Amino acid sequence: MSSSVSDGKFVTPGEKIELSGDAGAGVAEVDGTLVATQIGMATLTDGSVSVSSATDGPRLPVVGDVVIGQVSRLQNKTAEIKILHVEGKAFRDLPAEQLFGDLFVAEVVNRFLPAPGDAMRMNDVIRGEVLQTKPIIKLTTKPKPRYGVLHAACPACGEILSPSDKKDDFNVACGRCDYAAYRALADDYGHGFFEEGNGFDALNRGGERWNPDAEARLSHDGSRPYLSPLADYRRGSVHEIPKKFLGRGDGGRGRGDRPRREMHKTTCTLCSDKCEVPFKPTPGKPIRCRPCMGKIENGDATPDELSAERKVLLAARGAAQETAGFKMFIGGLPYEVNEEELSALFAEHGKLKEVHIATDRETGKSKGFAFVTYASHSDGKKALPSLKNLKVGGRKLTVQEAKSDGGRSGGRGGGGRGGDHRGGKGGNRGGRNDRR
Ligand SMILES: [Zn+2]
Ligand SMILES: [Zn+2]
Repeated sequence: MSSSVSDGKFVTPGEKIELSGDAGAGVAEVDGTLVATQIGMATLTDGSVSVSSATDGPRLPVVGDVVIGQVSRLQNKTAEIKILHVEGKAFRDLPAEQLFGDLFVAEVVNRFLPAPGDAMRMNDVIRGEVLQTKPIIKLTTKPKPRYGVLHAACPACGEILSPSDKKDDFNVACGRCDYAAYRALADDYGHGFFEEGNGFDALNRGGERWNPDAEARLSHDGSRPYLSPLADYRRGSVHEIPKKFLGRGDGGRGRGDRPRREMHKTTCTLCSDKCEVPFKPTPGKPIRCRPCMGKIENGDATPDELSAERKVLLAARGAAQETAGFKMFIGGLPYEVNEEELSALFAEHGKLKEVHIATDRETGKSKGFAFVTYASHSDGKKALPSLKNLKVGGRKLTVQEAKSDGGRSGGRGGGGRGGDHRGGKGGNRGGRNDRR
């Protein structure tokens, strides 16, 4: 069916339009009359009247124009091409809204092709000719050797594909993985890397039958293997990347040669079996052997097992806390008090693990606050109330528990704490791994 297209005349805003139809872009309906709201040409297209701006409006491609575009969508019988450029014309301004053209399967290459996806892939850059502009832009890449795919990246690994005549019917190959495929090549495929007109279109083998290997890869019966490398994979292409191409970056991510991780011996918190885990266990956090990880993941652990594990975790947390000690923040400390004097005051209540007076990095003078850590958590906790009333040189000290995170953040400068935090994160990472 051909649509009704009628070009009207040049109109200015407020001018009546002598066409009848629905009000489209640049047109308003006033008391049943169509009125232009901008300067331009009034046009009737498919029952809708619109005014396209004549001053700064886009000049649309016309039949016969040669366009450069990118494959933006692949369907069973058409490829949607996003038009990027019109060759040979000073097309300063392609319309702001994207312009698309349709490339029908019969217009791709001079050869039997079930779907356009058998000769081009998403994001391939193509050169084609405009066959028709209304109601939609239709393109062809068939009539001239210079039409066809100009640039294509490997769908499996992203490397730019090179023309290749190693295997009949597979005219492009990836230099990095083993991807090889067919593209409707333009004679200057790789434009920008090669001289113009390399005759690569000959690799399209126009008019020939497909060899069985290629035939098997075509999208017969509506199958669309071109939509994803995974679909290629299912059809037997593996696209493996040889080891020599796996650099530092790929190596780290590649499943094959992941660096061996240091294993840590521990005890499964769920079943108490000995096991090894690839991270440093954090006391009080679940660390499970492989079978138990599966059990948790599948929801097969019984409530009894889980409550037993909670007890184990609490005990571990308590033990870890006890050995971690009890850290206190001491403020209002007279500047003349040194670490020995401070130690003597606090040692009355238990064994000390660490005493540290904050000092100015440049002058080395006390900043008037300190951290004291008791070796035993319970000793420290017990001592805290009486220490709160401690006076030095007639001044009452401020003594409070230093929270393992908050207290530290407020206290010492950068370096030392960085280490502590990394430690903490490591612990969390362990927890996450465990849950996996
Ligand atoms: Zn590749
Ligand atoms: Zn276990």
